Amino acid sequence: MPIDATLPYDDQNIFAKILRGEIPANKVYEDDHALAFHDINPQAPQHILVIPKGPYVSWDDFAARAGDAEIAGFVRAVGHVARAAGMVATGYRLLANIGQDAHQEVPHLHVHIFAGRPLGPMLA
Ligand code: IMP
Repeated sequence: MPIDATLPYDDQNIFAKILRGEIPANKVYEDDHALAFHDINPQAPQHILVIPKGPYVSWDDFAARAGDAEIAGFVRAVGHVARAAGMVATGYRLLANIGQDAHQEVPHLHVHIFAGRPLGPMLA
């Protein structure tokens, strides 16, 4: 079910539990500001999620409340993961689903990175 991204942050969401180490994740990268791990239900040969470590529901929530170092760290982490995973030469797609119309399911901001095959034209 898509979530209402206007609600306050819920620290019982599954990505919060991954950040606290309460449930496992197949991690590919971690630093002070971000964590990246393989999506449990991959939609491409490479499908990685990158999340900020802070408690943000949506992109707009992140932009409004995060500090400059957190924002810079998250953006750099996404780029680092794509480069380290060997996606740069062939290309990759970034996607963030925010709120009900975009069918966001986990109420902790995340960017999907898809790669490993031709991904076709962008979907609206
Ligand atoms: P959303 O629709 O953009 O919110 O996508 C949520 C994503 O989280 C989906 O692609 C799920 O497959 C993924 N996901 C849900 N639970 C887990 C988990 O425990 N580990 C890794 N990925 C997960």
